[in-house]
Amino acid sequence: ASRRRDAMEILKGFEERCRTPADKLKKVAEDLVAMMHRGLEDEDSSCVKMLVSYVNCLPTGDEVGLFYALDLGGTNFRVMQVLLQGRNSGIKQKQRSYKVPSELKVGKLHELFDYMAERVAAFIREEEEGSDFHFLPGQKRELGFTFSFPVHNKEINSGTLVRWTKSYDMEDAMCKDVVEELKKALEKQGLEINVTALVNDTVGTVAEGRYYDKDCVAGVILGTGTNAAYVEHVKQIQKLRGSLQNSEHVVINMEWGNFQSLNLPFTEYDLKLDCQSLHPHEQILEKMISGEYLGEIVRRVLLKMAEEDSFFGEIVPPKLKQPYILGTDVLSAMHDDPSSDHNMVDQKLSDVLEIHDLPLEKRIIIVKLCDIVTKRGARLSAAAMLGILKKLGRDRRGTDGKVERTVIAIDGSLYGKYELFRKYLKDALGELLDNEVFQMVSLQQATDGSGIGAAIVAATHSINS
Ligand code: ADP
Repeated sequence: ASRRRDAMEILKGFEERCRTPADKLKKVAEDLVAMMHRGLEDEDSSCVKMLVSYVNCLPTGDEVGLFYALDLGGTNFRVMQVLLQGRNSGIKQKQRSYKVPSELKVGKLHELFDYMAERVAAFIREEEEGSDFHFLPGQKRELGFTFSFPVHNKEINSGTLVRWTKSYDMEDAMCKDVVEELKKALEKQGLEINVTALVNDTVGTVAEGRYYDKDCVAGVILGTGTNAAYVEHVKQIQKLRGSLQNSEHVVINMEWGNFQSLNLPFTEYDLKLDCQSLHPHEQILEKMISGEYLGEIVRRVLLKMAEEDSFFGEIVPPKLKQPYILGTDVLSAMHDDPSSDHNMVDQKLSDVLEIHDLPLEKRIIIVKLCDIVTKRGARLSAAAMLGILKKLGRDRRGTDGKVERTVIAIDGSLYGKYELFRKYLKDALGELLDNEVFQMVSLQQATDGSGIGAAIVAATHSINS
């Protein structure tokens, strides 16, 4: 058996392997750019699929009218009624959210879609009765469908599933057009509504970002998972082979969560997490960055400390052996707490892991561990963003010597609710870019790309106009 290490040794070894100095992050960004090029040529030879969204009309901010959105995510689906009033007058919305019953995630596709359509129809009928939101004269009902799984769009309103992710698995969905299936389900409800757009949540985030700010070129999700989309020149997309030639730009859904590179600071803990996950060898970047996993990485290191150094006493706390028990929200509560006695660590470990009365020096070690994991995730997110900026030539001065303003819209609770994650991400971007460029890059918190964004795409691709 190998020598038992003490907790400090485990911590130091882990810290060393998680280091992300600027030169390493730059290599990660370069590797991502190389994969982006490959994915735009032929996605089968790239770990990032670079899916073409067919969103080739970007909002100007002048869009007005009443639209619907249906957002199917990991745990819930939402129906929204969205009133666009133009950039300066804001957006009004009403919504209702429903849990997706777990048996419907692994059943037949039409069962899930019938279930959703029933609720969509009921929501629309209730909302339109005596509503203060009104259609423009002659306007038909339209809906943007956010389907946050990898999809091959054939057009803006047609597409087939590439593979299921998140705890979904419906075999009969493969090769079916998800828009056609949704239309059938809505027709059964006797509801007249046009499904105008099928979008990924990242694509919706770009659209929403652009509605509010004309300089928005990318949307990033940092929540349970991570992914990004950005606005690409059509002539840069070799795999299009002739389609979309009348458009200048189109939004690309990168599926960057699946990015892998030997330059990623991948540790023994990441390796085990990956091997024991639902989809091994997939979504490697996501497993190092996103909310689903950061707490789990910390748990695995703590478990090692408990097993090798009796960190929590003679017996290993049973709860600590339970995968995914430590959520990233718990991490942020312990880590964002500014008090010098780190009381929050004691409170959270007591609540979640039934570990009580932890002395201060151990609390400090735990905060340090959160710091290592979160800093690495945030800095890798910054490296991936640098990849987009590089691909667009926005990481440097333009040929005219000027620096363009660039906005990246970011959605998701990991970014929105974890202050230190946000800080580390921004600090890293500051290290990676020249100051004059960095000053022109604005990270904007998106409000609801997967809901409002989808309604905005329905507006820019409206059949009414
Ligand atoms: P989703 O990505 O599932 O659509 P969210 O953007 O709300 O939804 O992300 C939820 C994820 O964010 C959770 O899985 C959790 O890991 C993480 N999270 C939730 N609250 C916090 C928090 N306060 N601090 C850090 N991460 C959080």
